[in-house]
Amino acid sequence: MNPESLMMTHGYKPELSEGAVKCPVFQTSTFVFKTAEEGKAFFEIAYGLRDKEPKEELGLIYSRINNPNLEILENRLCLWDKADDCAVFESGMSAISTVLLEFLKPGDLLVYSNPTYGGTDHFINHFLDKIGVHTLGILPGQTEEEIIDAIDATGHAKNLAMIYLETPANPTNHLVDINALKVNVVDYYSKINNKEVLLTVDNTYMGPIWQHPLALGADIIIYSATKYIGGHSDVIAGAVLGNQEIMNRVKTLRTFLGNMISPYTAWLLLRSLETLKIRMDKQAENANKVAQYLSKHQKIEKVYYLGLLENGSEQQKIFNKQCTGSGAMVSFDIKGGEKEAFEFLNALKLIKLAVSLGSTESLVQHPITMTHAGVDPEHRQKLNITDKMIRLSIGVENHEDIIKDIKQAFEAVKSIKEMSH
Ligand SMILES: *Cc1c(COP(=O)(O)O)cnc(C)c1O
Repeated sequence: MNPESLMMTHGYKPELSEGAVKCPVFQTSTFVFKTAEEGKAFFEIAYGLRDKEPKEELGLIYSRINNPNLEILENRLCLWDKADDCAVFESGMSAISTVLLEFLKPGDLLVYSNPTYGGTDHFINHFLDKIGVHTLGILPGQTEEEIIDAIDATGHAKNLAMIYLETPANPTNHLVDINALKVNVVDYYSKINNKEVLLTVDNTYMGPIWQHPLALGADIIIYSATKYIGGHSDVIAGAVLGNQEIMNRVKTLRTFLGNMISPYTAWLLLRSLETLKIRMDKQAENANKVAQYLSKHQKIEKVYYLGLLENGSEQQKIFNKQCTGSGAMVSFDIKGGEKEAFEFLNALKLIKLAVSLGSTESLVQHPITMTHAGVDPEHRQKLNITDKMIRLSIGVENHEDIIKDIKQAFEAVKSIKEMSH
């Protein structure tokens, strides 16, 4: 069956909860063992003191280690990306920092794609260096040969431990070819170093619907579940997915950092997952109509949207290989600069001026002064993040109302008309 058909029931046994059709919130810190022998057996598994017997499952112990809401949520998230296992976190940043802390050690080299999420960028550039991890940022458009040259030039190629990607990039929707990087860079260093290099993809921008990095050769997927997965702008949460061996390590560190999601937040996400597919389908459909409208607007210079990639371009080839949908994120350059951009933003009525993305309501923001304010100005220039760029996250409203709101906001931008006189 398709994942969307299983989001209401998978992994939940009503007979264990008085027949309740919906999974209750297991708002409990600890769980009662039937016998001392059972408690001993559960801890043997939890602490890896022995392997599981065939069919033996880890029993419920304590909500920092496991809890039914977390486990059912993890089982359901696994279905979308066909992952062995999943771990859910109290935020996307806790998912990201836990993965980086588990798989990097002093002396290692981390290679990451730019632009990356601001929080991730900060953790990489202001925390990892404190623990002696070397880092190298790569830029959009760099070829695999150029990336290999850059890695070799660091002098730490022998200690390359992980390549960390975000594709499509926020806010430009620039794509990196996940599989080509796996085959030509990750496998190359795994072979010559005789040590596995991990490929991690932050897949937040494509939710779990439009891109499946594990199938493209990635080892680890990370989500900010605050975005499409939560989808209602009412929770902060994160998730990591991968094979069993990797996830055992991630879950063990999560147990000791104690940054797992709470039962109530997990319960809210179970509710969100029931409508994930239908929400994201509608958001993508609306985004397509909005992008078409924007692409013809005379007050706009350029639209950055995956559904409008140039025919036959390298970017479109990557899109066809690795994405099954064009998403709900649309950025554009307004004619003018910050003044015109702010006039537009301040005139919107339905679309709310707020950061974040992937939710039922449409949101808008100004990357250079908001989400990307902390990015190195020289990098920003190279990445096309300028004063005139505006980023939209399209929601599930009626598309005519979204477009009407955009239309009236453009009419309120007087300065462009004056310029063209
Ligand atoms: C929001 C976001 C994050 C951080 O997630 P939080 O849930 O806010 O901690 C990481 N990566 C991307 C791409 C994001 O959009």
